[in-house]
Amino acid sequence: MNIDQIFKNNEAWVNEKLGTDPDYFKNLSEGQNPDVLYIGCSDSRVTAEEIMGAKPGEAFVMRNIANMVSNLDLSAMSVVNYAVSHLKVSHIIVCGHYGCGGVKAAMQSQDLGILNPWLRNIRDVYRLHNQELNQLKTEEEKYRRLVELNVQEQCVNVIKTADVQIAYRNRNLTVHGWVMDMETGKLIDLKIDFDKVLKGIMEIYHLD
Ligand SMILES: [Zn+2]
Repeated sequence: MNIDQIFKNNEAWVNEKLGTDPDYFKNLSEGQNPDVLYIGCSDSRVTAEEIMGAKPGEAFVMRNIANMVSNLDLSAMSVVNYAVSHLKVSHIIVCGHYGCGGVKAAMQSQDLGILNPWLRNIRDVYRLHNQELNQLKTEEEKYRRLVELNVQEQCVNVIKTADVQIAYRNRNLTVHGWVMDMETGKLIDLKIDFDKVLKGIMEIYHLD
């Protein structure tokens, strides 16, 4: 991408917005009230707002390699805390995608330097679901399923936080696990049964 072109694109975007609403940026600058926290992959093809049709102000977004929610990641924990306890979002979405390079890398026996500790979290997901994954016949099937299971485990990591547990008790907050299928462009709801998942984990992770 040409950097000069980016500024030209920005100018065109500003003019387009002002063309339909002269107060667009005045209103935008007054504050945000998003209803959704979106946690997705940094992959350049899975653009949070565009795939959801979300406008500026509608989604609070965090993206990192393989849509991870690690309790040692100060950025992720701050994003969840701010979105849940201050912005009071009603939905937290963890969205993975088939063809995820981070998940693929975690399936390979390879030393990837600084990426090792990050991808180890995905290897841990593999270990947790080893039995199920090993029953699948092809590497492609395992790869796709690991993308889904990684989304599920990151949703569980969201639920392990104190902010989410408090919000669960006091108001409406829903956690969603999705996968974007790049070959079709479609978002797939994994329909994770969180009541069931919660019962299994709360004995250990209950904070509140
Ligand atoms: Zn990815």
